[in-house]
Amino acid sequence: MEKIKMTTPLVEMDGDEMTRVLWAMIKDKLILPYVDLKTEYYDLGLLHRNETQDQVTVDAANATKKYGVAVKCATITPNRQRMEEYPQLTQMWKSPNGTIRSILDGTVFRAPICIDAIKPVVKNWTKPITIARHAYGDVYKSVDFETTEPGVCKLVFEGENGERHEAVVQKTNGPAVFQGAHNTDKSIRSFAHACFTYALATKQDLWFSTKDTIAKIYDGKFKAVFEEVFTEYEAKFKEAGITYFYTLIDDAVARVIRSEGGFIWACKNYDGDVMSDMVSTAFGSLAMMTSVLVAPDGTTEYEAAHGTVTKHYYKWKAGEKTSTNPMATIFAWSGALRKRAQLDGLHDLEAFADRLEAACFATLNAGIMTKDLVGLVEPGFTATAVDSETFLDEIAKRI
Ligand code: NAP
Ligand code: MG
Repeated sequence: MEKIKMTTPLVEMDGDEMTRVLWAMIKDKLILPYVDLKTEYYDLGLLHRNETQDQVTVDAANATKKYGVAVKCATITPNRQRMEEYPQLTQMWKSPNGTIRSILDGTVFRAPICIDAIKPVVKNWTKPITIARHAYGDVYKSVDFETTEPGVCKLVFEGENGERHEAVVQKTNGPAVFQGAHNTDKSIRSFAHACFTYALATKQDLWFSTKDTIAKIYDGKFKAVFEEVFTEYEAKFKEAGITYFYTLIDDAVARVIRSEGGFIWACKNYDGDVMSDMVSTAFGSLAMMTSVLVAPDGTTEYEAAHGTVTKHYYKWKAGEKTSTNPMATIFAWSGALRKRAQLDGLHDLEAFADRLEAACFATLNAGIMTKDLVGLVEPGFTATAVDSETFLDEIAKRI
């Protein structure tokens, strides 16, 4: 069989532990037999990041900017425990995802992979809900303190050219707590562009919610920036048959629960933190959650939402077969290949991405699953737990 050709390389970021093991298996069993794979390979495994003083992460992010599409394996973010586990580490290296996100200035979109045998807790959700979380500012970059005496707290801005604002936060009679938060027009604008671009790319309606009735200036800015940026996309939205819908966060929550899904819900940083955990838990499993980083210029990086599955890795290292779920990592690959295909006009490659995903669904629908999913299956469906390798072989049979 002649393999499917590629024209532009995909930026490939390898990672750590069990997901690194799965990464190689996925390539060997599901991609290399069919695709004449062209990648620019970056090893983001912890030890290689250490050897390169983390330059490899920066290089990988810059390559992503250059080529436009990347696929990333889960990576270890070292903490104190990891420093003991890997004594050769010269620094507690920063989270690669954080480094890549700041270079690409991106927004993270998380969406569940849904199958018939596993129903979301919310029964009327028949289509996936994607959460787009603004990943900059607000309470995550705020300052706070507590006070003990009666007094007054003021918020003061001193511009470099003389602009000045001063507001009384509150006059208090006794002990109190205070908090100062910010966001920037630039970051909000990037967030808006990423959301509209992603909605068009995935042909889904976009919802956006804030609390601008209460935070009239702060959240009012988010609402206004989105409205203004939308004027650049309005015609394309119409053409694609999708809509942009703004509502208050409390109204959005009620509507989301009553909805059938199938849209993107853009959330401010805190709302996105809280709502993405609610939505992903309601849909079933972290192992079935995809994650995509999209920059305002459309540069896209695909990955799984879960980590390196450390516990499974140590079992695998000890010679045991593990039943680690590769679905989210496979979908990172299919997503990246599809995006590359669309940018380069490669119909065979796009069809292959579809076929790979269809083979995954066919395998799950045949009741062949990893252990984590078997316990979630609805009555009336049969499911057998297999190890990761068998699961991948079963997918390969169905491509
Ligand atoms: P994790 O790797 O997501 O795993 C937590 C637990 O969730 C696992 O022990 C496993 O439960 C279950 N799980 C997650 N993914 C699974 C899969 N594909 N198949 C089956 N079960 C799965 O999170 P963690 O243990 O907190 O973090 C491990 C390492 O990953 C850390 O070093 C962290 O820095 C890194 N991390 C990286 C990323 C990223 O690169 N995007 C994200 C998060 C964490 P059972 O053990 O009960 O089977
Ligand atoms: Mg959280």
